[in-house]
Amino acid sequence: MSERLAPGATVGILGGGQLGRMLAMAAAKLGLRARVFAPEADSPAFQVSENPVCAPFEDIAALRQFAGDCGVVTYEFENVPAHSLAVIEELRLVCPPRRALVSAQDRLAERRLLQACQMPHADFEFVAEAGALEPAFAALRGRGHITAYLKKLRQGYDGKGQVHLKDDEDIAAAQDWLGREAAILEAAVPFLFECSVIAARSRHGDIVCYEPARNTHTHGILSESRVPSGLPERLIADAFAMTRAIMERLDYVGVIGVEMFAIGGSEPESLVINEIAPRVHNSGHWTLEACMVSQFENHIRAVAGWPLGSPERHSDARMVNLIGDEVDNWAALLAEAPRRSLHLYGKAETRPGRKMGHYCDLTPLNHPPSAES
Ligand code: AMP
Repeated sequence: MSERLAPGATVGILGGGQLGRMLAMAAAKLGLRARVFAPEADSPAFQVSENPVCAPFEDIAALRQFAGDCGVVTYEFENVPAHSLAVIEELRLVCPPRRALVSAQDRLAERRLLQACQMPHADFEFVAEAGALEPAFAALRGRGHITAYLKKLRQGYDGKGQVHLKDDEDIAAAQDWLGREAAILEAAVPFLFECSVIAARSRHGDIVCYEPARNTHTHGILSESRVPSGLPERLIADAFAMTRAIMERLDYVGVIGVEMFAIGGSEPESLVINEIAPRVHNSGHWTLEACMVSQFENHIRAVAGWPLGSPERHSDARMVNLIGDEVDNWAALLAEAPRRSLHLYGKAETRPGRKMGHYCDLTPLNHPPSAES
């Protein structure tokens, strides 16, 4: 195992989005340097990185040089090519481990991991090519499912790479959309609400779990996370146990996000895992303000070989994403709530569906909500 990093050492971060930016800021808090590697010249994380490297993930020489300058290397999104991590692994410890990235990059591999861990997940059929869609849909309906989500195996996030099939009339359009790609066809889960667990595992195998957040998506993109989630204690314990089992199986180091559906009648009765993200997660941004130690700090502590910090929460929290031109409202959002915490990601261009920032409102525990919240 690599030595733990000393203050002043460098953490390399692959990917230059807002998650990389917040990781770099957490590293700086701990006296560590952050060096970001990303292909896009206007990457928001470059603004807070020492000597950033702007190069494609396929540039082996640039990856090697980058790795040589870092004490440990991590990543902020799951679509970093696995072979780029393999190049870096020859020189430096990479956390979370490559096997976690590989499982999360491919929806079939992810389902296989869940099966191996005996985790509840939506019923599904593998669709090798467009012609296999019709029998797959028929098979799911034969098992009592009414509608289904067709998900391409790769590059799916924020609701991208998937279509909802409601009846046979949707099949032809879905086949065109799929083209020559493979996919899974997943039974639609009749969930009460969506939630997620953020957890960190240290190099020594210690695990801390943040309380689950209740998540709301709009057009497939996370719009809001709230804590407490409304899950009963029993299901919170289940959610933690499932997250721990996944981390242990992967010999994981760093922060993971596990998205789940809460299902039941009028009250949540059980959980089904939807997706695993081997990185810090948007639905954990509330931990920056509401917890003793945030997901970003715990990720940096974990990959640096440091002891983890407490995930304990001192406040109820509501995190709201600012998507597309919602960010233009930032001054009014600050003016209406002086205790609100605002994060703007420094993105030069506002585009529809692009995460431009977020804010977080807190209600301290054991205090009545204030007039402004
Ligand atoms: P994903 O990219 O898989 O996280 O899916 C994006 C969103 O689509 C989820 O947050 C859900 O709101 C919805 N969704 C995806 N898969 C399913 C499913 N099997 N059943 C019900 N809703 C789903």
